[in-house]
Order: sequence, then C-alpha cells, then structure tokens
Amino acid sequence: MSEGFAVCGRCGGRKADFDRVCPHCGFRPEGDGLLIAWLLSTRHRDTASLDAVSERIRGGETVRPSAKMLATARRALGRSWASDPGLDTRQRLALLATSLLVTPLVGLMLAVWWYGTKPRAALQALALSLPASVLFFALGVWLILT
Ligand SMILES: [Zn+2]
Repeated sequence: MSEGFAVCGRCGGRKADFDRVCPHCGFRPEGDGLLIAWLLSTRHRDTASLDAVSERIRGGETVRPSAKMLATARRALGRSWASDPGLDTRQRLALLATSLLVTPLVGLMLAVWWYGTKPRAALQALALSLPASVLFFALGVWLILT
C-alpha cells in the first residue's frame, strides 16, 4: 500500500494523490470536488477497483458518489463536526486577545471563513468574538453619548 495514487475525476488519468493537479488534463479538485477526488484514491479504494473506475471515466461516465460516500470522505478529510478538532487553548486565547485588544472583526471573519470547512472552529471563533463585539459596541455608544 506504499505506492498510493488517485484517479482524476475528469479524465480518468492517474495522479500522485487526490489533492494534486491532474498531470493529464490539468484538473484541480476543489471544495466538494476534493471529497470525490478522495473517494477516487488509494486512501479509499484498492488499486483494482480504481483501475475499473478509471476505465469508466475514460468511457465518458461521470462520477456521482452517493451522499453516504460523500459523508465518509467528509469525515476522512476532517470537514465534519465529528472530526474537526476545533481550536486548541493557545489559539483560543490568541483569538480572544485579538478580539478584545484589536477588533472582534477578526473572530467574525474567521468564523465565516471556517464555516464550510471547520464547523467547530468556526463556532468557537464566533463564541469568542461575539461578546467582544458587544463590548466594543457598548464602548462605542458610551463614547458617543458622553
Ligand atoms: Zn485529469
């Protein structure tokens, strides 16, 4: 199993790993395409079944994995709640300090940025920066009113 490879979801050609640009057609899997790409690699299937899939793609077939297979890939790639480790303590403290001392916008932006790929980290960023946002808002109001 040391010689891993992946099959390009567009042309069926072989490439070194699922997240690489295909050397045959230049296709680069992104977003959910990465999930399909992972399913078409030796990380998920054996060589024989990948060769069969490659043959089918070359024959013009489009790869349409089931929702269950996509969920498997999502889990394996750390894009689901269950496998997202979230932020560690140091990262949370850094984010809290940034939110309080600089601007809570950083946390809010990270939350939006991570929303699709790191749900747990996104929620933590939001939880850390929201109170700071309220504080900044209150401070702003206080400064205006006094
Ligand atoms: Zn290709």
